[in-house]
Amino acid sequence: MAVVGAGPAGFYGAATLLKAGAQVDLFERLPAPSGLVRYGVAPDHQKIKGAGRIFDKTARLPGFRYFGNVEVGSDLSLPELAELYDQVLVTMGAAADRRLGIPGEGLEGSVSAVAVVGWYNGHPDFVAAPPLNGNRAAIVGVGNVALDVARVLVRHPVELEPTDIDEDALDALRDSRIEEVTLLARRGPADAAFDLGELEELVDLVGVDVGVSDPDDRLRAELDLAAQLPAAARAKLEAVARLPRAESLTARRRIVFRFFSAPRELLADGAGRVRAVRYEHTEPTGEPGRVRSTGRFEELPTTLVIRSIGYRAVPLPGLPFSEAQSIVPNDRGRVLGADGRVVSGLYVAGWIKRGPTGLIGTNRSCAQETAHAMLEDAAQLRTHVPAPPNPIEALLEERGVRVVTYPDWLRLDTAEIERGQRAGRVRVKTRSRAEMLAWLDGETLKAAAG
Ligand code: NAP
Repeated sequence: MAVVGAGPAGFYGAATLLKAGAQVDLFERLPAPSGLVRYGVAPDHQKIKGAGRIFDKTARLPGFRYFGNVEVGSDLSLPELAELYDQVLVTMGAAADRRLGIPGEGLEGSVSAVAVVGWYNGHPDFVAAPPLNGNRAAIVGVGNVALDVARVLVRHPVELEPTDIDEDALDALRDSRIEEVTLLARRGPADAAFDLGELEELVDLVGVDVGVSDPDDRLRAELDLAAQLPAAARAKLEAVARLPRAESLTARRRIVFRFFSAPRELLADGAGRVRAVRYEHTEPTGEPGRVRSTGRFEELPTTLVIRSIGYRAVPLPGLPFSEAQSIVPNDRGRVLGADGRVVSGLYVAGWIKRGPTGLIGTNRSCAQETAHAMLEDAAQLRTHVPAPPNPIEALLEERGVRVVTYPDWLRLDTAEIERGQRAGRVRVKTRSRAEMLAWLDGETLKAAAG
């Protein structure tokens, strides 16, 4: 079986398949495995990053092979994989960002949280640092990613030093002039996408004040209706209402929530850079979770606007895709074609299957559901004839693809951890693909010479 994408869903799916006796080749377009565990989870959430060790265990199961630095859709096509394997499980996640669709979004200083998260996590595709030379950053959206980004931007850099944050990003954060991060939410606190624990983590930050801007005293009216809300929503509303008001904050570094604020335009300075967000006040309609426009606008001066409004999956040639839902249509992981019928041998798991929501662990049950469907289908196909050797390695060699194997990755992993130990850090990451491959080839040469 082939699995495409070595993130959490790919590894959890592979583990279930391997434990049932399947042979699994796992393809990953980047040299390093682990997907969002390495490149998405915030560097100051090292406990969650520990999931990477579970993936190492999976990689030791008999029948597992890793093909890192191999891009399906470029080095190999999906139809080719489907020819070479009995079943193909695609777990390529949702790698792109969503757009707000408002004027000014393309200005310099307007970036996506996807790019900022990739930047501080040393993702090879996100080298550019966001401009940190102004004293305020505005973040659009109040999901857990928005709170991660806010925390990393204002947290004292000394606290980030022991983590695996990218070295250049850490340097840039040391020089950052940002003092205030304002989070703009188009709805109220009861409908905020963040988890309460993430808000509490912000409040606990040392040397950072967290407050709420509430000029219309709307929170009081919201609290009057709190008894009707589900427990989780009420808890969020009450936690926000307990925050000090923005005007009373005294710390040099601050995080400020502005609820009922919908961005309508990013305004430019004379040089085409962002100078402010123009947003419209919204108000509750009375229907749960719904707000309406008020026609009252305000400008928030800022030179950096980070849209943190979710991730978006990118279609893969040969794989059915629903643009409207931004997922691959599927029935418990079995891919469905345009006619609504199951496409034999093709499966999905993770964010490409169910959309960009949930914690790392959510992918375990999601991938297991798909893997069980694959095993059920495989049982129907099983012929008990040993499979002929798969020509995949020869094919990739012929195409000049430098495959990174799991032992290669483990050597890189050890080298990163050792570099980190020398610097008093969890690890020092290698960002660039070329650097990773050059290091691996250099080590191979050294070993051959030795
Ligand atoms: P998310 O949870 O879907 O949050 C998206 C945010 O963007 C919401 O506040 C949403 O507001 C807002 N938004 C969407 N479209 C908008 C628009 N056009 N204008 C203004 N605001 C807009 O997405 P995420 O933060 O990217 O997180 C993705 C998933 O990863 C989530 O399930 C999250 O829990 C998970 N995650 C977890 C952790 C953790 O556990 N520590 C860390 C990071 C991510 P509305 O609600 O009004 O639509």
